[in-house]
Amino acid sequence: MIGAIIDGDHRVHAERHLDVPIGDYPATVAAIAAMVSTLEQDVGIEGLPVGVATPGRLNASKHLMCGSHVSWLNARPLPRDLAANLGRDVRTAHKAGCLARAEYLDGAAEGATRVFAAVLGTGVSGALLIDGQLLGGSNGFAGTWSHNSLPWPTPAESRTAPTCGCGQHGCIEAWLSGPGMSADHVRRGGHALTVPDIVTRAEAGERLAGITLRDWLARSARSFAAVINLMDPQVIVVGGGLSRIRWLYSEVPKIWGRHCVADELRTTLVPAAHGDASIARGAALLWPLPQL
Ligand SMILES: [Zn+2]
Repeated sequence: MIGAIIDGDHRVHAERHLDVPIGDYPATVAAIAAMVSTLEQDVGIEGLPVGVATPGRLNASKHLMCGSHVSWLNARPLPRDLAANLGRDVRTAHKAGCLARAEYLDGAAEGATRVFAAVLGTGVSGALLIDGQLLGGSNGFAGTWSHNSLPWPTPAESRTAPTCGCGQHGCIEAWLSGPGMSADHVRRGGHALTVPDIVTRAEAGERLAGITLRDWLARSARSFAAVINLMDPQVIVVGGGLSRIRWLYSEVPKIWGRHCVADELRTTLVPAAHGDASIARGAALLWPLPQL
């Protein structure tokens, strides 16, 4: 994860990367708190407001994390524990919501009245922003697109639907996440590769990698088409590691119309203008930003 100190002019003063301790909730809380302290030491200021973008949401009572692909956060009171560790209030929001807010304010979705923000990374998540307001919903889970089934699955996809971290089979997250794409490549007989390696090999003309990338793009197109049919956004903005796959923006809009009812599609598909820092910017924006 990325941590950053951002001021009222949206300038980044310090940035750090953190490898989250796998499977260990107390160590994860401690590591996030330690990163906050390190960032504050970097700029020589203590006690700054802390916003955290989470890979999951708080449940209806706003106490416990739910629906995170980082499974050891689920059913844990992450905001409360971070606040206790840091000795100050902590505001949290899910990653896709942070992406949507940051990109709406001064990014790739600036001023758009209907925005769908998608995070494609180790996990997949989504958020809806309408007239500048993030849609929460009766249960706080509006935009949770990633645990719907992959739309319009082929017979082969139905037969091989991978198990999702949520316990279901064939969820969008299980197909479109980075681990999902890597697993798909292995299922078709390829080596265990990272997403950048698959894309590099596909661009170099390697047949199997090309098929894996082509199928991932087709699945992305169907998944976004379902969003277009449901909410008809002006802009779909994509963040997370897989948003760096440039073919997403050139190829998906060529094919998503097959699954959309509208015959003159005006929805645009764009990468986050602020790149990897976009989600961190959205987390910082959970507070009024200080002048530093
Ligand atoms: Zn799922």
